[in-house]
Amino acid sequence: MPSIELINPADETVLQTILHTTIVEVDAAVADAVTAQRGWAALPPAERASALRRFAAVVDAATEELAWLEVANSGHPIGQARWEAGHVRDVLTYYSAVPERLLGKQIPVAGGIDITFLEPIGVVGIIVPWNFPMTIAAWGFAPALAAGNAVLVKPAEWTPLTALRLEQLALDAGLPEGLFRVLPGRGPVVGERFVTHPQVRKVVFTGSTATGKKVMAGCADQVKAVTLELGGKSANIVFADADLELAASTAPYAVFDNAGQDCCALSRILVQSSVYDRFLELLEPAVKAVKVGLPGDEATEMGPLVSRAHFDKVSSYVPNDAQVAFRGSAPMGPGFWFPPTVLIPSSRTDRVVTEEIFGPVVSVLPFEDEADAIALANATEYGLAGSLWTRDIGRALRVSRGVDSGNLSVNSNSAVRYSTPFGGFKQSGLGRELGPDAALSFTETKNVFISTD
Ligand code: NDP
Repeated sequence: MPSIELINPADETVLQTILHTTIVEVDAAVADAVTAQRGWAALPPAERASALRRFAAVVDAATEELAWLEVANSGHPIGQARWEAGHVRDVLTYYSAVPERLLGKQIPVAGGIDITFLEPIGVVGIIVPWNFPMTIAAWGFAPALAAGNAVLVKPAEWTPLTALRLEQLALDAGLPEGLFRVLPGRGPVVGERFVTHPQVRKVVFTGSTATGKKVMAGCADQVKAVTLELGGKSANIVFADADLELAASTAPYAVFDNAGQDCCALSRILVQSSVYDRFLELLEPAVKAVKVGLPGDEATEMGPLVSRAHFDKVSSYVPNDAQVAFRGSAPMGPGFWFPPTVLIPSSRTDRVVTEEIFGPVVSVLPFEDEADAIALANATEYGLAGSLWTRDIGRALRVSRGVDSGNLSVNSNSAVRYSTPFGGFKQSGLGRELGPDAALSFTETKNVFISTD
């Protein structure tokens, strides 16, 4: 039976071996999910709401356990991992309000009454990447369950442990057997079966743009609904009138958090040319102050990269002759350690400026004026996140409207809140997750006309 050995990214020790799910097992899980979904959707809304609140409570009680699993499996710093586990609880709590608030409409028409129902889609398949294993899974499964669906999750091969634990916690909370399953395995096997199985009626995919395109093309074959959260190459735009000290001291965390393995990483810092040199002077000590170390240490701010293969990919962007401005530190010895790295590319079309590196590597580029800043920010196939720093409110609004990205932040670097919509323009994705409307994307609108004649 195919399997994978999980490696601790901080010391390269073997954690455990995980058996992969076969196609036959996926098909059996889909069949169980079809049955479980019918029972789940038939429950009174208040009962589904209360089951989700119990799930949130059980996750809350297991926060520490989930966090340490992520430390070992993904190399996330413990402080960050605790936040992630708490975020899963919060996302479940937020969407537990949905079953009792999934409102249809009553539409005025001639000759009768017209009403709409928001029906669950059925079985939803969620394909999760390795960078934020439990939070990204929750962004899909919480609103999907809340809207009355069954959910099958395929975690990334390298990082299945927290998702597998969440499956157990859901059962502990009393969710029906078969309603929420986690099926570890290979993308082209388990993930692809979600795409080709006719009874999986929606796929939520987060990962690379290349794989996302394949998933979308596969879903087209059955006119299957799909949400895509893909890559990014987001800009952190600093105007001359900004609070430069604040912009520079926070910029490292906006790109080096999670060792840069974040689709929202602000991996291009664009600085107005009149303050470019001053900004770099302020950025250098901030980058060097980032605490890179063992994920289990409470003080650690950045851990290792997730795997040897990913380390090699990130390293390929920083060859010996790379235009490195300065670097932070990283531990020596075993583990996939890569120091925070600041590049000054000679051209706006260098591959470090245009491609998603997904590691702790940032490029700093100068721009001339507002129009140039917007053009440079938009000179990418992606459009996921972005920040801009200025004290001019009119400029803040003009630039926010001008940058083709789904999530922008003015004078701060916050891209994700569970209560606000998240997703990308252009090749960063399709559809939105989180926020007040997320559950709607797990429903079909049914219109019913009742004649009064
Ligand atoms: P992938 O897009 O290949 O993987 C994401 C998920 O899709 C994983 O669960 C993967 O499974 C699964 N998958 C792979 N192939 C298929 C398929 N044919 N059908 C269905 N599901 C599939 O990303 P990688 O892990 O290869 O990372 C490559 C690059 O993608 C990164 O360096 C980064 O640039 C970007 N990326 C972006 C992310 C984001 O959040 N936007 C997240 C992760 C990566 P398996 O684990 O078995 O490969």
